[in-house]
Amino acid sequence: MNWMRANPQMLLIVVMMSGSFIILAHFSLFRNKVIQRFMHASRGNIQKQVVIEESPYIKRNKIMNRESLARILRLNFEQKNETKPTSRKCHVAYAKLKGYISLHLMTEETNQTTSSGLTWPPTLKYLDFIYKDLEHGGVYKGPKECKCATNFAIIVPFRDREQHLRFFLFYIHPLLQRQRTCYTIIVVEQDDDKTFNKGKMMNSGFLYANSIGDFDCYIFHDVDMIAENDRNIYQCKEKKVAHLVWQMDKYDYEIPYYDYIGGVLAFTKEQFITVNGFSTMYEGWGGEDDDMMKRIWAKGYELWRPRKKNIARFKMIHHNHDKRNPRIDDYLMQDLLFSAISRQDSDGLNSLHTVRTDVIKYPSHTRVKVRS
Ligand code: UDP
Ligand code: MN
Repeated sequence: MNWMRANPQMLLIVVMMSGSFIILAHFSLFRNKVIQRFMHASRGNIQKQVVIEESPYIKRNKIMNRESLARILRLNFEQKNETKPTSRKCHVAYAKLKGYISLHLMTEETNQTTSSGLTWPPTLKYLDFIYKDLEHGGVYKGPKECKCATNFAIIVPFRDREQHLRFFLFYIHPLLQRQRTCYTIIVVEQDDDKTFNKGKMMNSGFLYANSIGDFDCYIFHDVDMIAENDRNIYQCKEKKVAHLVWQMDKYDYEIPYYDYIGGVLAFTKEQFITVNGFSTMYEGWGGEDDDMMKRIWAKGYELWRPRKKNIARFKMIHHNHDKRNPRIDDYLMQDLLFSAISRQDSDGLNSLHTVRTDVIKYPSHTRVKVRS
């Protein structure tokens, strides 16, 4: 003790040396533990050791065999991206829906460049960029973690409505994806100068869809109809033809009459074939949807609409009558509607003579050009 009091520096040195010794001993013990654990994990299979230089695990475990590396990588990376068994069906995740959607249609200011430099409605080029993760042709194969219960063909009759199409594509993709559905957007464009024949475009779209894939539900969708609520689930009903519209801004958020089926109408394949598709004889604006309603009744189907009216709510982009789609002569329309049921089995899908002139697959949609 006297020696300690006499040599305080020596005491300090002794304390420091014993401290270092304790620290070193601790590390070597820990190291042994790590090695022991590693040896255990590799089950003595030390010949197969590989040195992983870039791995984040190298700091902890300088030497690693293939199995333990694979195990660690599996645990750390694959588990995050792990897809659930594909047999699991996708259901609508109501919690992920937004409900009411505030639309920015800005019809009187379309094609304006906004303060952020964006052209509104977004250009096709921009849409192709934002939807570049879709399979070309506007094909969405559903969420990764489940298998879609239904594959939808969204069929859009089209001509001279480029701006409406840009709005439509901008809003429809996120909505359908939030509803966790598989779908393909097929825009059927009349590729001639004749009067617009919507029925022929719809039927051609149906036949084209059948030629490219296996769809369970065909949704005939006007290009200017934009949903205001994503709780309006796009769907078909097996026993009924589904009309997804109760409220349209154009009609003060009503529908003009109960049997009105304009806008968005959904058929199963069997239903559409049974009614023989749309009549092909309505050239110009009006009548083809009332004709379809007669076909639906005649084949014994009923209409289905969503239970809650306020979710089946749409805005129709304001527009004037299209130059190449004049209103059908009233007398002709009355005659056609009068003979609708007697013509049903000979006028429609089975009498269609259209020529497909082109198919263009944009990332955001498939454009099918058709001569009427
Ligand atoms: N349509 C088109 N070009 C035309 C006429 C009609 O693309 O020249 C398509 C478009 O999808 C439109 C639908 O046919 O939404 C119904 O026509 P329109 O909007 O004139 O009928 P509305 O329901 O407004 O009376
Ligand atoms: Mn319209």
